Amino acid sequence: MRDALDTAPGMPPLLRIEHVQLGYETARGRHVAVDDVDLALGADERLTVIGPSGCGKSTLLRAIAGLLAPLAGRIAFDGRPVTKPGPDRAVVFQDFDQLLPWRSVLGNVAYPLRVNGLGRRRADERARELLDLTDLSAAADRHPHELSGGMKQRVAIARALALQPRLLLMDEPFGALDAITRERLQGRLREILDETRTALVFVTHSIDEALLLGDRVLVLAGAPSRVVALHDVGTPDSQGEARTQLQALLADDRGDDRD
Ligand code: ADP
Ligand code: MG
Repeated sequence: MRDALDTAPGMPPLLRIEHVQLGYETARGRHVAVDDVDLALGADERLTVIGPSGCGKSTLLRAIAGLLAPLAGRIAFDGRPVTKPGPDRAVVFQDFDQLLPWRSVLGNVAYPLRVNGLGRRRADERARELLDLTDLSAAADRHPHELSGGMKQRVAIARALALQPRLLLMDEPFGALDAITRERLQGRLREILDETRTALVFVTHSIDEALLLGDRVLVLAGAPSRVVALHDVGTPDSQGEARTQLQALLADDRGDDRD
């Protein structure tokens, strides 16, 4: 296992998380969700994050997105402190209702481009390229209520990629899909990341998904949580062993499949 702060040799980290503590101010006082996370991610690395429900996976993702300020420690992206959301870090959530219901598929993907100053024609052109990438060209004129869950998630991915983020943040995006659709989207996501050379932080409940999509798997556990392991995924033949180790680490919490 590599040190948490090592990235691939020769690659400066795209994301650096230093002794970060995360939590929320509540009516009952401060609730610390994540106690101490130290991590660096290279520019074309894929990190999957796994851990029991409530261990702070979404909290960590929100902090990287710039939606939540750390209670302690620092998060830097491309050498600069993260203080707010930015187009360089796009987020895809689990929720099927993250699209704008009154806009077409094309309109949903073109929208962030328009907001960022692209003219209508250029925005639509670029959006059509992304619909092609996510196999949605035939659905360009449909509205979200006319789409399956898998299609909605592909629109969300296309929209997230529209601004060419350097890092894609995904919070259990396939968690509510049937197994066949999920497998298909996992494969497509890998191809899309290869084509667009985008780094990934992907939260999941599934050990198989974590091993399939990650170069490394970050295991969080405890309340407040800490990093209990950072696995290098390695070759497919070594994955049986990795799966057994991850199962052992998560053993106390198996069967709990809620958020
Ligand atoms: P996970 O995604 O791993 O299931 P979360 O990051 O959603 O976990 O939550 C981590 C902890 O923080 C939990 O104890 C949860 O109840 C708490 N929490 C999450 N969001 C909030 C919030 N907005 N206010 C207060 N506590 C929260
Ligand atoms: Mg969550």
